[in-house]
Amino acid sequence: MRVFNFAAGPATLPLPVLEQARDEMLDWQGSGMSVMEVSHRSKAFVAVAQQAEQDLRDLLSIPSNYKVLFLQGGATGQFTAIPLNLAGAEATVDYVNTGAWSKKAIGEAKRFCKVNVIADEAASNYSTVPAAASLRPTPGAAYLHYTPNETIGGVEFPYVPAAGDVPLVADMSSNILSRPIDVSRFGLIYAGAQKNIGPSGLVLVIVRDDLIGKARAGTPPIWDYEAMANEGSMLNTPPTFGIYMAGLVFAWLKREGGLVAIGERNRRKAEMLYAAIDSSGYYKSPVAANSRSWMNVPFTIPKPELEKTFCAEAAKAGLANLEGHRSVGGMRASIYNAMPLAGVEALIRFMGEFQRRHG
Ligand SMILES: *Cc1c(COP(=O)(O)O)cnc(C)c1O
Repeated sequence: MRVFNFAAGPATLPLPVLEQARDEMLDWQGSGMSVMEVSHRSKAFVAVAQQAEQDLRDLLSIPSNYKVLFLQGGATGQFTAIPLNLAGAEATVDYVNTGAWSKKAIGEAKRFCKVNVIADEAASNYSTVPAAASLRPTPGAAYLHYTPNETIGGVEFPYVPAAGDVPLVADMSSNILSRPIDVSRFGLIYAGAQKNIGPSGLVLVIVRDDLIGKARAGTPPIWDYEAMANEGSMLNTPPTFGIYMAGLVFAWLKREGGLVAIGERNRRKAEMLYAAIDSSGYYKSPVAANSRSWMNVPFTIPKPELEKTFCAEAAKAGLANLEGHRSVGGMRASIYNAMPLAGVEALIRFMGEFQRRHG
């Protein structure tokens, strides 16, 4: 039986996508083999990669002066690749610290450049985002990096920082494709696939042309944006199954009505869940009201010793993986694009029942 899977990543995928992959598993496009067994240089696979890129461009309205790269090494690899590609050894780079993933990106950048942390939400225990007006990029900074959605803390920016001439770099691993965005505001967007795109093993980079071609000497070619762009992301063997699955997810998103429709659905799911938490007098959200994520919803109960019971009983009811991150405890419901409204409704019903029994 399929459950509602609230895992933060790898995460639930759209059922129609999984069904199509299953149906095509043994005989993909009449080839007599699975897509995993086909050459990445074959006409048929190159067409899959090109269609995936085109569908992503359509969904996000990516301007033609941006490259789309399908890379490996996860978002974590990009923590390293970004300073190597965008900043010289003497450069200053700006970072905003809103939680666990920001911190990891900052730690890595410090190995390669002078890092200015221009905002740090430590004072709120990372339950807030900085006020838009308080963000001032350092003049001449090579880029400004931020994490639009902190997957562990459940903190999401309700705005895009104004970076002026400084290229804005965003780790959208856990909220890419969750609502429309204006890509032209960004110099570079990256996202590990395993939250809102497909299986792990693939990381997406959307980068403006003028930021390519300046990688430091010694940058590994597989993380050099120019080298990868010149080879259509196939300088080496790409994660073919991941690209195929991402393509199926992009096509699914288009069939669902694109990012406007998906964004409305995500807003509704999140609003329902936060309303249930806030009105319960039992569950609590640790995140400031204006910074609450549509994708990752952490919540707590008055007696932490009941958290294990909550998660175990939820799992029995077909609601899987509601444990909070091991670093913060509590519960967390990740409700990415592929989580249907019915899953959120089932969770809210379960939360009501649990409160009646234990509250
Ligand atoms: C999951 C995640 C990462 C790490 O991704 P990997 O693919 O494991 O490297 C980085 N940033 C954010 C915001 C994430 O959600």
